[in-house]
Amino acid sequence: MNAITEVLRLPRAEMLINGRWQKAESGEAIAVEDPANGQQISEIAAGGKADVDRAVAAARGAFEGPSWSRMRPIDRSRLLENIARTIEDHAQELALIESHDNGKAVAHAMMIDVPAAVDVFRYMSGWCTKLTGKTLPVSGDGRAYHAYTRLEPIGVVGAIVPWNYPLSMAAWKLAMALAAGCTVVIKPSELTSLSTLRLVELMHDAGLPDGVVNIVTGYGHVAGQAMAEHEGIDKIAFTGSTATGKKIAIAALGNMKRVSLELGGKSPSIICADADLAQAIPGAALACFFNSGQICFAATRLYVHRSVYEPVVAGLAQVAESFKVGNGRDPQTMIGPLVSKAQQERVLGFIEAGKAEGAKLITGGQAAGDEGYFVKPTIFGDTRPDMTIVRDEIFGPVLSVSAFDDMDDVVRQANSSVYGLAANIWTRDLRIAHTTAAKLHAGSVWINCHGVVDPAMPFGGFKQSGWGREVSEEGVSLYTETKSVCAAL
Ligand code: NAD
Repeated sequence: MNAITEVLRLPRAEMLINGRWQKAESGEAIAVEDPANGQQISEIAAGGKADVDRAVAAARGAFEGPSWSRMRPIDRSRLLENIARTIEDHAQELALIESHDNGKAVAHAMMIDVPAAVDVFRYMSGWCTKLTGKTLPVSGDGRAYHAYTRLEPIGVVGAIVPWNYPLSMAAWKLAMALAAGCTVVIKPSELTSLSTLRLVELMHDAGLPDGVVNIVTGYGHVAGQAMAEHEGIDKIAFTGSTATGKKIAIAALGNMKRVSLELGGKSPSIICADADLAQAIPGAALACFFNSGQICFAATRLYVHRSVYEPVVAGLAQVAESFKVGNGRDPQTMIGPLVSKAQQERVLGFIEAGKAEGAKLITGGQAAGDEGYFVKPTIFGDTRPDMTIVRDEIFGPVLSVSAFDDMDDVVRQANSSVYGLAANIWTRDLRIAHTTAAKLHAGSVWINCHGVVDPAMPFGGFKQSGWGREVSEEGVSLYTETKSVCAAL
């Protein structure tokens, strides 16, 4: 059996709702293709409003039913740990699915995506028994009161996730929701649903009761929109583009459901004059090009102190040209294909805009390969703040580099974006590192590193990069409502 049939043996064009594989009510399906060669490898159900209704009813039933609502916190914790272990046991299979569906290197999925999914379930298993309220020193009216808060699960969560880290983004949302005691309807991207379908199946194998997690596959403007508008959903947890996040926020107003949003970015890298260039050059290159630039916190605007600008640009070009662009199943591959033909065309369009607006092309600047949706790692030098490639989120392997003269100037430029997801700074001067970290408008700031994401660290964006934070105590608490209880004594 070849690798592909081995890893893609899920029921075709079916969704797991209330613990049962089911077709979409419409009977329609969406073709799934491998972006490394454009060949169809499977199909998923094109879920719609009727399927969302069924999934929400199942999630509501499970939320109120005895097997979930009466499950002891310590048993929920054990379940999340079992899920973590089950994912670990299927690491290779999940990594292969992710590579066929999204294009990324199997080695990267084994190193980042699968461990991130395992870690978040294991970390969140601890919160099941530790989400506590407080006793409150009420002054009142002279009578004695006993007042306290309870943290209660919000209810039914609608989770909508993107295509760049399908497995780990789904795992983040599911682990937080389950730790808080919620039930879930999850909709993966129509481009990359396979690993989430398998994940939800594995969660049932690990002991998840029926109806607690239900998956609806389908288009965003159909199934996703139906979830955002649904009166039976209490919270939408969304990761995706800022444009879609705005639509979801508006649709959610109908029943004032809670909304948390993890959105786009245009993160800056700053290389100071005193930086250790042996670390900073490959660090800044990976900060932009890893996962073919398809990362929300990709650092795609690089500001380099003028005194080291020339050696840094030369070094970056050397690193970018050394990356092997190719099929994700090749162990040497560093840069896989973009997720779809549309995404490849969009990224090539930004590259043409960069050339037309007068940026200096240092390396790359074109598609790669005879088949599939590859784009060469591309670096533009001498970029200006008003250029499209400096302002817009490209979501591909395109880096803009410009020189700066002083820290006030670079902080102003770094902050001159509608986004505020992340930033990094490379310097040996601790005072500059920490004072700059305090000035940057970003939800995550990395000093002499980039992209260190951990379930213990709140993750999310300032400005148009989102609402709320993911993972950590802050993230899981966004899946609870606080109730004040006050008893006259
Ligand atoms: P997208 O917004 O197009 O789609 C994201 C999800 O929303 C998909 O499941 C899609 O089907 C669904 N969707 C689309 N239209 C919808 C609608 N009208 N109503 C409800 N759901 C809808 O994003 P994408 O192209 O899949 O992913 C790339 C984007 O995601 C980038 O902007 C990236 O920065 C962002 N992202 C952010 C984070 C973060 O943590 N901040 C992480 C990963 C990706």
